[in-house]
Amino acid sequence: MAAAMRIMVVEDEEALTLLLRYNLEAEGYEVESVARGDEAEIRLREAPPDLVLLDWMLPGLSGIELCRRLRAREDTKRLPVIMLTARGEEAERVRGLATGADDYVVKPFSVPELLARVRSLLRRAKPEHLAARLAAGDIELDRDSHRVRRAGHDLHLGPTEFRLLEFLMQSPGRVFTREQMLDSVWGRDVYIDERTVDVHVGRLRKALNQPRQPDPIRTVRGAGYAFDETFAKS
Ligand code: CA
Repeated sequence: MAAAMRIMVVEDEEALTLLLRYNLEAEGYEVESVARGDEAEIRLREAPPDLVLLDWMLPGLSGIELCRRLRAREDTKRLPVIMLTARGEEAERVRGLATGADDYVVKPFSVPELLARVRSLLRRAKPEHLAARLAAGDIELDRDSHRVRRAGHDLHLGPTEFRLLEFLMQSPGRVFTREQMLDSVWGRDVYIDERTVDVHVGRLRKALNQPRQPDPIRTVRGAGYAFDETFAKS
């Protein structure tokens, strides 16, 4: 594994910062958070991260202005920036992108959706760090096209089953609790019963396994689920 990617969260809403930190760290990113635009500008010069999540309205210096300044400097010109904003009008959107942000997310956003944007932007910016394709045994998962194939055949997975499989395939052999799976696949901001995980694992298995094919997902009694590491190496 490459060193952890570093993400700076520039956001003055503490609850949102905590939510982002928790979810980004669960994905294996290193997170630094700053609540003011002017402080962020200094920190970004001292220790540039791999990606910035930048709130639009900030004390000290607005996110729009900070983004404009980052783009004007040679050393931060290409720094991946995702703007977070409560405004959704088309004109504002265009203005956000005109400041040079790479992507734009409207609050309230879904955490899995934001994480997907983060991954996709990092992959574009640093393709060597994140594989677009996961493979284990005879299963291939393509993150860009959202396609899953087993033994050369296309499988039809729902969006939740896709994220579930992606999540488990990322860490073969690691056992995840239902709570960890809910946090990472559904996002921590939603309340869903833990039994929902079992329902979706059941659907995933049904889509994944044809008769006589081994089941790559291991149920660990009293603990949770894991992607079978022996399957991954087969
Ligand atoms: Ca704000």
